[in-house]
Amino acid sequence: MAEYRKPLPRPENPELTKPFWEAAKRHELVMQRCKKCANWIFYPREQCPYCFSQELEYRKVSGRGRVHSYTTVYQPASPAFADEAPYIFASVQLDEGVRVATNIIGIPHDQVKIDLEVEAVFEDVTPEWTLIKFKPVS
Ligand SMILES: [Zn+2]
Repeated sequence: MAEYRKPLPRPENPELTKPFWEAAKRHELVMQRCKKCANWIFYPREQCPYCFSQELEYRKVSGRGRVHSYTTVYQPASPAFADEAPYIFASVQLDEGVRVATNIIGIPHDQVKIDLEVEAVFEDVTPEWTLIKFKPVS
């Protein structure tokens, strides 16, 4: 595999997000869920944005959902992604109801549609980092 030269995640709170990234390495998708109000939460936080409880836990989710919204990126903000343009930056709503900012891959960019059924794919880009993207359900 060619050396990965694009920017990697730089979590502001590595301890808080560690379960998410460790699960990604195992090719599992986990999200925080509030033990008090049962809402799913993404991105990871220290406090539930719905009821302010700090009793949050990571739980495995289906990894399946639908495109909620998307845009086609023709001119990436970072030149490191220029070779991939045009590509899809999307908000995917998981079956559990929580929304994730991600990329849609495995489909021509002009064929992506709202409500397209998608599933998580795991890209092991370095030994330390696995990135989560989504592709159409086959
Ligand atoms: Zn809550």
